[in-house]
Amino acid sequence: MDYEVECTKCTKVVCTTRHFDKGADTCPTKTRAEIIKKTLPKYSQPDIKEFARQASIQETQCFMKLPGGMTMVNPRVEETAQFAEKMGYKRIGIAFCGGLREEAKILTKILENRGFQVISVCCKVGGIPKETIGLKEEDKITPGDWETMCNPITQAEILNNEETEFNILVGLCVGHDALFLKHVKAPTTVLIAKDRVLCHNPAAGLYLSSGYYRRLMHRGAGYP
Ligand code: SF4
Repeated sequence: MDYEVECTKCTKVVCTTRHFDKGADTCPTKTRAEIIKKTLPKYSQPDIKEFARQASIQETQCFMKLPGGMTMVNPRVEETAQFAEKMGYKRIGIAFCGGLREEAKILTKILENRGFQVISVCCKVGGIPKETIGLKEEDKITPGDWETMCNPITQAEILNNEETEFNILVGLCVGHDALFLKHVKAPTTVLIAKDRVLCHNPAAGLYLSSGYYRRLMHRGAGYP
């Protein structure tokens, strides 16, 4: 019997232990063993191996052992810069949302101060009107006004053309971020996931799911 892959519903998490193969019958470590076998050799490719190795070293370095126990260190900006340094990257691309221009500006300064060369490109690059992708006046944020469309494919192609070695995504909208990631060549990390309501901290909505957002926990619920 084939089972759906549903790790979020797992009640016997063993994949984090040495008994990783003792999960439930539905565990993809068992049901998707062929895929696991097939993908593992990818980590043997030298470039991928080094990338994965440095990423895991970086992960370790975000924990600090103190006499009283473990504590977390390195906010994400620092984690990102440290990882890029480990990888020996020099040219960093920033794909940012126009609504987060100030944040992108500060990030640029921080990275330049650390010796990186930063190439940054705004989501509105090209100045293409939203009508180009079929939006009608009523689809606009302010009907009747000029509105420039977000242009994530061009953002990606500009960074590809600039041969950035590593990219940082800053606040692109849902969907625009997906298009960017689909078209960009260099590895890209997300520094800021846009959330207009929750101060770009979408996890806050999940943390509030037993309180203010509890109605979302009922099947079929949603906001209009
Ligand atoms: S991999 Fe298996 S053990 Fe790990 S969370 Fe998924 S179902 Fe659970």
